[in-house]
Amino acid sequence: MIPQTTTVKTKQNWQHSLANAVNNADQLLALLGLSGQLSAIDKDKIRQFPIRVPLSYIKKMRYGDVNDPLLRQVFPLLDEAYEIDGFYSDPVGDHLAVKSPGILQKYQGRALLLMTGACAIHCRYCFRRHFPYSESNPLAGQWQQSLDVLKADTSITEVILSGGDPLSLNDEKLNKAISDLNKIPHLKRLRIHTRLPVVLPERITDSLLDCLQNTHLKVVMVIHANHANEIDEEAAQVLYALRQADVQLLNQTVLLKGINDSVEALGDLSERLNEVDVQPYYLHLLDKVAGAHHFDVEEEIAVNLIEALRKQLPGYLVPRLVREQQGEASKTVIS
Ligand SMILES: *Cc1c(COP(=O)(O)O)cnc(C)c1O
Ligand code: SF4
Repeated sequence: MIPQTTTVKTKQNWQHSLANAVNNADQLLALLGLSGQLSAIDKDKIRQFPIRVPLSYIKKMRYGDVNDPLLRQVFPLLDEAYEIDGFYSDPVGDHLAVKSPGILQKYQGRALLLMTGACAIHCRYCFRRHFPYSESNPLAGQWQQSLDVLKADTSITEVILSGGDPLSLNDEKLNKAISDLNKIPHLKRLRIHTRLPVVLPERITDSLLDCLQNTHLKVVMVIHANHANEIDEEAAQVLYALRQADVQLLNQTVLLKGINDSVEALGDLSERLNEVDVQPYYLHLLDKVAGAHHFDVEEEIAVNLIEALRKQLPGYLVPRLVREQQGEASKTVIS
């Protein structure tokens, strides 16, 4: 094990931060000096996916700006209520890819574990907002069964911890899960799909860093940032600590109308990611989930954006534009 040399300064208890996340539209607007300036969808219409925003994320929003790109990702606009043709509750065929309860396998060699339904933030465009997590949560009594499935299939070399957000589990549960996975001889890589370094940086505790260093698996973390403003100094610090812990860092972004659908916004994001040593990986076209149509960017516009980006940035700072298509053997690369 490599000695832990970095200390993360954000010592505030992350579970406390999570419990204090804003869960009410009026309160969010008031904190930003925007009371009465945006209308939210009725509470009873969003019951399954209520508003949730940690204060550490709100801090990064611009005060008094109704068009702030971070605010727009989490504010439940009236548009969510509209039913639009072509937008479904399970747009990416997750139900069809269930290998065993809590395990999705769509692609060769990689199994994705739905570790928890919980997230620290509720992104309004989220494609998993309608997924029945409570029925497919491997840590809710199905963990041994999940391990047995992974042990029995030697073609699986990479396990992806996903959710919800796997880092919303506590260190004890994560430690146990990672040490169990560590014992499966045919596994090479552990991948973690998480938005927490960006939306709740205090979650990256020393004990989590230790746990990630205590495995012989190669650890890859795919963070999820959609806008350069999300990566403030605090996020930069924890990303640095993760790199010091030998974690390879990649980023995935969802292309979102009014938030990052410009060459400038995407270029600034790539530049910022490079400053903090995170490799841009995927730029996803929106999965067509019911309630998220107002975020959709047409494919043709997306292709033009990527082509313009390619002309102005080094190739390694241009993410791959992809769409998830049901039944395909990989993500579909558009450009
Ligand atoms: C996106 C995804 C993966 C990972 O795909 P990569 O192209 O390797 O990043 C794996 N499993 C599922 C179910 C996915 O949706
Ligand atoms: S963090 Fe990811 S899984 Fe959670 S709500 Fe946002 S997009 Fe969905």
